Amino acid sequence: MTRALYPGTFDPMHNGHIDIATRASALFDEVVIAVYDMPPKKLLFTTDERVTLARQALRRWPNITVVSYRGLTVDCAREHDVQVIVRGLRNVADFEYEHQIGWANSQLAPDVDLLCLFCDGDYAYLSATILKEVASLDGDYSHWAPVHVQEALRAKFAHAAETNHVSHSDTKLSHHG
Ligand code: ADP
Repeated sequence: MTRALYPGTFDPMHNGHIDIATRASALFDEVVIAVYDMPPKKLLFTTDERVTLARQALRRWPNITVVSYRGLTVDCAREHDVQVIVRGLRNVADFEYEHQIGWANSQLAPDVDLLCLFCDGDYAYLSATILKEVASLDGDYSHWAPVHVQEALRAKFAHAAETNHVSHSDTKLSHHG
């Protein structure tokens, strides 16, 4: 049985992530989506929320499961008995990053391989950061995320606006400078 781990922050899961996850599900018997608990970046959604949104997005694929993890990705891979880590590549910057992390992971766990899948051209520039920026500025992001993720984003930003926690000053899409 071939098992793969697709790790990431998924804050939140968008169509680019879903494309990679579902293509991996056609290549492997089982795919474990591993939602990283505490990345060194500012998050919009809690770990439970990110797991729930990912589960809902992938519920139609019976060989995909979603878990959360902390610590080393290779330890998570071993815990779930996977042979391959899957990641998505959008551009040269992703390639450089994945190459470096892949090297470190291979030193730590030579028995776990890395498979990078090129992203679908439609999502070549899509990132969770861009998605959140457009959502925070009330733009149209209907082609970038499933409906339940769009609703979760709307609810988050509506709540943030009510409690005055929304700031547009650090977005790149509201000004040029
Ligand atoms: P991380 O913090 O681990 O990079 P992300 O949630 O940003 O977490 O991304 C998880 C994985 O999904 C990474 O392999 C990333 O390259 C890939 N990915 C991100 N955006 C896209 C996209 N638009 N199309 C395909 N893969 C993507």
